[in-house]
Amino acid sequence: MSKTYGTLNPGKRVLMGPGPSDLHPRIYQAMAAPLVGHLDPYFIQIMDETKALLRYVFQTDNDLTFPISATGSAGMETCLCNLIEPGDEVLICVGGFFGDRMAQMAERHGGKVVRLENKWGRPFTPDQVQEALAGCRPKLVGLVHGETSTGVLQPLEDIVRIVHEHDALVLVDAVASLGGTPVKIDEWDIDACYTGSQKCLSAPPGLAPITLNDRAVTAIEHRKSPVNSWYLDLTLVKKYWGEEHLYHHTAPVNLIYALREALVLIHEEGLENCFARHALNYRALKAGIDAMGLKFFVEEAHRAPMINPVLAPEGIDEAGIRGRLLNEYGIELGGGLGALKGKAWRIGLMGQSSNKDHVMLCLSALEQTLLAEGHTIKASGVTAASEVYSN
Ligand SMILES: *Cc1c(COP(=O)(O)O)cnc(C)c1O
Repeated sequence: MSKTYGTLNPGKRVLMGPGPSDLHPRIYQAMAAPLVGHLDPYFIQIMDETKALLRYVFQTDNDLTFPISATGSAGMETCLCNLIEPGDEVLICVGGFFGDRMAQMAERHGGKVVRLENKWGRPFTPDQVQEALAGCRPKLVGLVHGETSTGVLQPLEDIVRIVHEHDALVLVDAVASLGGTPVKIDEWDIDACYTGSQKCLSAPPGLAPITLNDRAVTAIEHRKSPVNSWYLDLTLVKKYWGEEHLYHHTAPVNLIYALREALVLIHEEGLENCFARHALNYRALKAGIDAMGLKFFVEEAHRAPMINPVLAPEGIDEAGIRGRLLNEYGIELGGGLGALKGKAWRIGLMGQSSNKDHVMLCLSALEQTLLAEGHTIKASGVTAASEVYSN
């Protein structure tokens, strides 16, 4: 007897971790639309619309704005391998897991990496960057906007100005933040930025939208050596995404349908309304967490609204609670990474997952589970959160 395989049935989940986030039903429909060729005139129209919508979300007029066909980390790698040549000095601000990943990648692409380290949970100050730039002459400075491992939102504007005074390029990781909080590429004068499809954009994982301004494009044009990745070489990829539509690789057509639909949803809602929704749901979650007597990892002024590490109380098994939430309620929370491993839950309110139902369900499930594990709750988180919504 040959083995039979069951029907695919993952069950229903409430995705409240560090990504992926929930998909709107229209995304599933978009993915099921008929496949066309990756150079089909219809698909070229979809590509053009996707680029226009990405410019809207990145708040930029940058010509070079399109998705790389791979996950957020490939967006990181694309920017680094195109902008760094072997021997170039690079300053990377490392305040968490993803800053560290950026530094590791920059090293692999031949960069002479200077790491500006920060204690986890704190943003970098303009003074720290100013001081670091007094001791090196980097071609590029890399920063993470929303550091998913710590929950810190890094202010960018002042730092970008300082970096430009030192004639360096600014690279920003907006994988977690884009779509959930303003990322003003043109106004803040960010040279290169990448994101991922599965966080606040609420598309499936697998695409990494990037945007580069003229300064960054010129830096690539002036390279002395070819980019050390064929697949991620923007001088080649941009001929597929640009006017020429030259074959480079077979784009994941249905994933791009999905990304386009996710961006259309943001466009219909309006970017500002989308940010306001993320801010409101964070405020409700915060009211609930505070009322229950639980503690956030990051000080209030520096929190990213879409990813919230909350410390597990003394004596509470962080992973055990997370397991119960998944089994009993279908809720996926993130565990702690690095310094927070075993110590915190990371509660994501990204994209479609940033809504009232999710906040209320998460707070009540957390409350019930902590009570069941013998932990005393100070006051009802659900009541505190619902007050935020009714005000
Ligand atoms: C998720 C994430 C990444 C990596 O994205 P993948 O899609 O997992 O490759 C990079 N940076 C930040 C800040 C992230 O949150």
